[in-house]
Amino acid sequence: MNVQLNTEPLSSWIDTGGKPLIIAGPCSAETEEQYLETARAIAKEGYAHILRAGVWKPRTRPGSFEGVGEPALPWLQKAKEETGLPTSCEVATPQHVELALKYGVDALWVGARTTVNPFNVQDLADSLKGVDVPVFIKNPVNPDLALWVGAFERIAGAGITKLGAIHRGFSNAQEAKYRNSPMWQIAVEFKSIFPDIPMIGDPSHMAGKRAYLAELTQRAMDLNYDGLIIESHRNPDEAWSDAAQQLTPDALGEMLKGIEFRNETY
Ligand code: PEP
Ligand code: MN
Repeated sequence: MNVQLNTEPLSSWIDTGGKPLIIAGPCSAETEEQYLETARAIAKEGYAHILRAGVWKPRTRPGSFEGVGEPALPWLQKAKEETGLPTSCEVATPQHVELALKYGVDALWVGARTTVNPFNVQDLADSLKGVDVPVFIKNPVNPDLALWVGAFERIAGAGITKLGAIHRGFSNAQEAKYRNSPMWQIAVEFKSIFPDIPMIGDPSHMAGKRAYLAELTQRAMDLNYDGLIIESHRNPDEAWSDAAQQLTPDALGEMLKGIEFRNETY
C-alpha cells in the first residue's frame, strides 16, 4: 500500500527541542482541583510538552464515570494559562469537536473505539473542515491496519495536516499480560505506509498496570517512536477511570529517567 497524505512534520508544529514528544495528564478530568493540581505538578516536573485529559469518556459498559463533559473544558483553559502547556482531549462526535475548539483545546485525539467506525470518523472529518488543529488518531481496538489507515485518509481529506498516530495496542479475547496487546508489527507496518506521520506510544493503555509501563515505554523508544502519551494523576489509586495504570507526576518523572531515549536518558 502506498498512500500520500499532505502532512507537516511534528517539529514544525511543536518544539520538543529534539526530544520525544511527551503528552501527559490524567485519564479523565474529574474535578477542577484534581485537574489543576495534576497539571501543575506535571508542568513542574518539566518533561511534558502537551497536557492530556479525557473530557468525554468512552466506557465499554454503562454505569461507570463517563466524563464531566463541557464543564471540564474551562479547567483545561486554566491549566494552560497557569502552566503555559498546550492541552489535548479526545473527541468522538462533531459536537465534541465544536466544544473543544470553542474552549481553545490545542490538540485533539480520536479514540480507539472511534477509529473502528468509518461513519463516525467521517463525521469527525466533516466537522474539522477548514480547521487547523493537530489531530492524533489512535489505532482501532481491533488489529485492523486498514481501518487505522482509512481514518487518516478521512481526517487528512478534511484538510488536517498536523497528524500523529497513537499506538495504544489491541484488545484481547482472553486474559493476557497486557490490557491491550501491542502487536508492534502493526505499528511498524503503519510506519512503512506513512513514514512521515509521527508515531506516539501509549504505554498506559497497552499496560493496564503501572508495573508494565517502563518496559513498554522502553520498547516504543527502541523502535524510534516520536513520542509518548502517558496517564498521570495526582492520586492514581483514587482515579475515576484507569486507576491501575496511572502514575503520579513525580513517579512518571522517575520512570522516564530510567528510560534510554535514543541512547540518551531523558
Ligand atoms: C484514553 O486515552 O483515555 C482512552 C479512552 O483511550 P483508548 O481510546 O486508547 O481506549
Ligand atoms: Mn484512560
